[in-house]
Amino acid sequence: MESLLRAIEELVGPANVLRGDDVAARRVDWMSGAPCRAGAIVRPASTEELAAVMTKCHAAGQPVVTHGGLTGLVHGAEANTDELVISLERMTTIEALDPVGGTLTVQAGAPLQTVQECAAEAGMQFPLDLGARGSCTIGGNIATNAGGVRVIRYGMMREQVLGLEAVLADGTVVSSMNTMLKNNAGFDLKQLFIGSEGTLGIVTRAVLRLQPRQPVSHTALVACADFAALTGLLQHVRRTLGEQLGAFEVMWRSHYALLTEESGRHAPPLSSDYPFYALIESQGSEAAESAQRFEASIEAAFEAGLLSDAAVASSEQQRERLWAIREDIEGLLHHIAPRFAFDISLPLDEIESYVRDLEKAVAERWPDGRLLVFGHLGDGNLHVTVGTGRADAQTRRAVESLVYEPLAALGGSVSAEHGIGIEKRDYLHLSRSPEEIALMRTLKQALDPKGLLNRHKVLPDIAE
Ligand code: FAD
Ligand code: ZN
Repeated sequence: MESLLRAIEELVGPANVLRGDDVAARRVDWMSGAPCRAGAIVRPASTEELAAVMTKCHAAGQPVVTHGGLTGLVHGAEANTDELVISLERMTTIEALDPVGGTLTVQAGAPLQTVQECAAEAGMQFPLDLGARGSCTIGGNIATNAGGVRVIRYGMMREQVLGLEAVLADGTVVSSMNTMLKNNAGFDLKQLFIGSEGTLGIVTRAVLRLQPRQPVSHTALVACADFAALTGLLQHVRRTLGEQLGAFEVMWRSHYALLTEESGRHAPPLSSDYPFYALIESQGSEAAESAQRFEASIEAAFEAGLLSDAAVASSEQQRERLWAIREDIEGLLHHIAPRFAFDISLPLDEIESYVRDLEKAVAERWPDGRLLVFGHLGDGNLHVTVGTGRADAQTRRAVESLVYEPLAALGGSVSAEHGIGIEKRDYLHLSRSPEEIALMRTLKQALDPKGLLNRHKVLPDIAE
């Protein structure tokens, strides 16, 4: 590897090939803080530099792992000592903003929050939003097809990308920097790279789609007496708020109670006696009209018996306090340790019984075990946390089978938004048919025949 690294130093400069302690100082796993084990970290500044690096790696048969902001949750950024990391940390330029076409052109290492702020300064918005906004990058969001809290209104990352550029394993630059909403000239190649977790190419630049800014928001935390009321409420706010419905986030009692009364981390805006809580947000452009519509919707829900109690935010500070409960992932991790975390999806009408059965199964197996659930209910997406007091591999397997195995029969998915990485590749077959997995392998073989990009990720290894 050393002679290859010297050749790469000539391409990117010696300061941009990190070795030794500089490599180990990187934390590749947001949850555990595990250090990076790669042979070296290479930091190109441009597509051209990266293409030249990949040409050399390809010739040498050198495997690489791409790093964005390292907030991924499925071990996708892990690297072995015989792998090189390609970090996009120097490729953060906002290249162009077109207010008329509503597009923003960026390098893939740009942090999500910077992109959001840049759009806001121009009086528009980039609607993808998630708790890791300060650290995660546009390239990572594309590679994982990130979701987050605005999917109910704007869709996932896939819907926010008009064009992109990627460097293939052999150094070929594929530039599909389309800026138009409509372009049916042949295959939509960008889709190959969105959600494929860095296994088919390294995303270097993107054309993002901006939306009109919705400066007025109204937020309420409400409590529901049962699951039928909760889903009835979802239907009700969809109908009454229409396109203004910006978020519908749900917490089961166990999750809400832990972060409020049990841990004391947040003052409880509502008592923790209800089985379900929903954080509802509407977004609009006209203050008076938005407020009236939101209040009318909440009032009508009360009258229809869909909600039992509500805390409506009357200031930005109160709004932030409500969101802080929902976004307090660190609190969750701190109070349930060790724990196993999952992001699954399943049809809405299967969710209640799935969670009930899982609760029962966990309690039977581990009498002191805990199950906490929150999620993006409108997207059928649940974040499930299981604490059993143990973290060994056997317990992990046992918990994974309880969580994943029922999903296949219910038409659910082992990953709603975080991706497969290393963590879920042995369970891919529960959500994808043999024909789908075979086609994924065909694409991988066509784009990366030497298997250099993000080895052992997403697709299960073929038994030798
Ligand atoms: P990394 O972690 O660096 O990489 C993730 C994967 O993408 C790796 O496999 C990596 O090799 C690959 N990759 C990175 N950059 C590129 C590139 N330029 N080209 C090709 N491959 C690349 N996800 C959601 O979907 N919704 C949420 O609501 C959500 N909330 C989160 C909240 C917190 C607090 C945290 C820590 C994570 C959350 N995530 C969520 C996980 C989510 O996947 C990431 O936050 C984000 O999309 C990853 O971006 P990143 O730049 O950190 O990527
Ligand atoms: Zn999520």
